[in-house]
Amino acid sequence: MSTEGETKSGATETVDLYEKWRRIYPEWVTGGFQTWRRITLVFLLAFFYAGPWLRWDGQPGARFDLAERRFTVFWQTFAPDEFVLLAWLLAILALGLFVATIAAGRVFCGWVCPQTVWTNAYLIIERYIEGDRVERQRRDKKPWTGDWMLKKAMKLTAWALVAFSISITFVGYFTEIRELLPRIATLDLTRWEIVFLLLPAAGSFFFSAILREQVCFHMCPYARFQSVMLDRDSLIISYDESRAEPRGHRPRRADPAELGLGQCIDCDRCVRVCPTGIDIRDGLQYQCIGCAACVDACTDVMSQMGYGESLVRYSSENRDEGLPGRWVRPRLVGYATIMTAIVTLFAVTVATRLPLDLDVIRDRNRLYRESWDGSVENVYSLRISNRADTPQEYAIDFDSEVPLEYRGDRVVSVPPGDMRIVPVSLLRAAETPPGETVSDVEFTIRSEADERAVARASSVFHQPKRAEREARG
Ligand code: SF4
Ligand code: SF4
Repeated sequence: MSTEGETKSGATETVDLYEKWRRIYPEWVTGGFQTWRRITLVFLLAFFYAGPWLRWDGQPGARFDLAERRFTVFWQTFAPDEFVLLAWLLAILALGLFVATIAAGRVFCGWVCPQTVWTNAYLIIERYIEGDRVERQRRDKKPWTGDWMLKKAMKLTAWALVAFSISITFVGYFTEIRELLPRIATLDLTRWEIVFLLLPAAGSFFFSAILREQVCFHMCPYARFQSVMLDRDSLIISYDESRAEPRGHRPRRADPAELGLGQCIDCDRCVRVCPTGIDIRDGLQYQCIGCAACVDACTDVMSQMGYGESLVRYSSENRDEGLPGRWVRPRLVGYATIMTAIVTLFAVTVATRLPLDLDVIRDRNRLYRESWDGSVENVYSLRISNRADTPQEYAIDFDSEVPLEYRGDRVVSVPPGDMRIVPVSLLRAAETPPGETVSDVEFTIRSEADERAVARASSVFHQPKRAEREARG
């Protein structure tokens, strides 16, 4: 499908509405930034793969146990009624992303985004099996040969294994990986488990190995809205036009000034190494993920030419225009302050949270039950949450304004991170002085293992009005 458009000079041109997918063959590049990127990649992969295996006192470092409705993050287990803390954690991560983007542009995209990290890992495998850019391009242009098919089969098999390892690890964050692996080995899996194992593998394979940069271009919502977060002092990758232009080829020993040229030798190395296939010399583009591969490429070219620093570098719009750069900006300070406040509040809440919780729910059907002998009973459900990492036994006690008799379990045990509902009742015996129609009661639970772990919850005791009681005799 195409449409008619007008060029700057007023001529009419036909514009394709659907661009053909152009396969990108990024060239291998080394340099300071790429060394740090690869170290980051190894660290992140190690962190991801080790996550489900890490234990401290028998507790997993991170586990999202949907069946038990229990979440563990950094060895802190959160009960179902603490999901709000998980929401806080996500809000903190989102704010951290905003702060990083305002300060350092697309540093998240280029360095730590899972899509970038996995794509890099798949690219490294591809290069190892199929060779570097030129070799891969040549092979893909040739008709299918035995070598072509062998290399492709080896690459796809290696990718599939990596994708499957990602999938197993991913599922390991939701279930016990030590039990999962033997069951995978013996194919002792339910239909749903097979689906949950195949889905992340297929997703990783399709998005990170096949689609790669297309995910950033067309699917990532963050790539769309982050431009509004950048300001004129945010770090961007930019091309130093004043030094570089006019660009042009020249003999290595020639003096560019004599030839009327800038320092860009138009070697296209910065374009060939770019994983998104753009030419940064055309200016800042939304496709640029800030990976700094072009910076390292040009650093290498400039040092070979003896011209000094790279023509492509981390900069900012203000610095490019010769204005002084500012690290401290109102928006950055604003976001950082909000984030610091939320992190502090979150840390204090987590540090001071009780390892247990008690909630009292009255019987919703009847205020009270009156027996033939004049005794009155109120029924309650005690919802006891164990937020500790070990099983706990809790002693139940109560306090009341009128003399009441307790009926129910005195000690209950609750597994770690779990919750139990305990039905109990309070009874006013017939011979006891009746007291007010509504009187206060307070339930207490106390951990048998830790006397300081105490939770209290208030409720009320209902009984018939004095006149009704007297009328009944
Ligand atoms: S790598 Fe440097 S010299 Fe080569 S084309 Fe890019 S900017 Fe110009
Ligand atoms: S232009 Fe440079 S920093 Fe941007 S994506 Fe391409 S190689 Fe990475």
